[in-house]
Amino acid sequence: MIPTVLGVPLDVNSSYLRGPADAPAKIREAFRSDASNTWSEVGIDVGAAGAFVDAGDLKLNNSSQRVDQDFAEIERAVGALLEKDERPVSLGGDHSVTYPILKAFAPRYAKLTIVHFDAHPDLYDEFEGSRVSHACPFARILENRLAKRLVQIGIRTLNQHQREQAKKFGVEIVQMSALPADDRLRIGGQVYISFDLDVLDPAFAPGVSHPEPGGMTVREAIGHLHAIEGTIVGADIVEYNPARDISGMTATVAAKILKEILGKMIAEH
Ligand code: MN
Ligand code: MN
Repeated sequence: MIPTVLGVPLDVNSSYLRGPADAPAKIREAFRSDASNTWSEVGIDVGAAGAFVDAGDLKLNNSSQRVDQDFAEIERAVGALLEKDERPVSLGGDHSVTYPILKAFAPRYAKLTIVHFDAHPDLYDEFEGSRVSHACPFARILENRLAKRLVQIGIRTLNQHQREQAKKFGVEIVQMSALPADDRLRIGGQVYISFDLDVLDPAFAPGVSHPEPGGMTVREAIGHLHAIEGTIVGADIVEYNPARDISGMTATVAAKILKEILGKMIAEH
């Protein structure tokens, strides 16, 4: 069960700025850059032959009139990888892509725990008239029972509506104000990681559409990733917006997070 990287260039469900559709190519470029080597900190060379597969980018319309078609294509493509016992690591795209990805996971993984890194809970019932906005994916995922458990970490934008949604759906939230903590969440079982880059402080990751001060360091995020004890069956890295980046520093951070997630997935076998 080797990890498969899949680009999901969709940003039509972004509420504020477009840009994340250009992210997969930029993250790959940073990942392959000679500025660093391909070893994960867990002691795995993710650049070794056969360590992971790159399935390229999905061909999407990325048009607001054809979101249903794009979501169906994402679900189909991720489902096809899962049928082959592969472990998809998707590069967004805005955070709306996690909903169709989880639709593909749910029939195959009944006891999934999602570990969701984000400044935002993304639990809106609807946002600016859209129920598939990047502000809504976890409301859709939970009301459709696509995961057994949702643990959110790094949250720092809770409003009343989203507090109520979290309560209604039984979401476990570790707010940023409770961090940094020495104790890491040692989540077990089957784990899906959804990593929104805006969980990081804008000082470390300025290339996002919704920079929210008061966030995590890269070091702290890696600490939380490494502490996961369960089997990582899939992941996504979303919301990188190259149009807002400075000297590609956020692409480098996204590539580092990708390297650590892949390293952990490979090390488990
Ligand atoms: Mn998000
Ligand atoms: Mn966010």
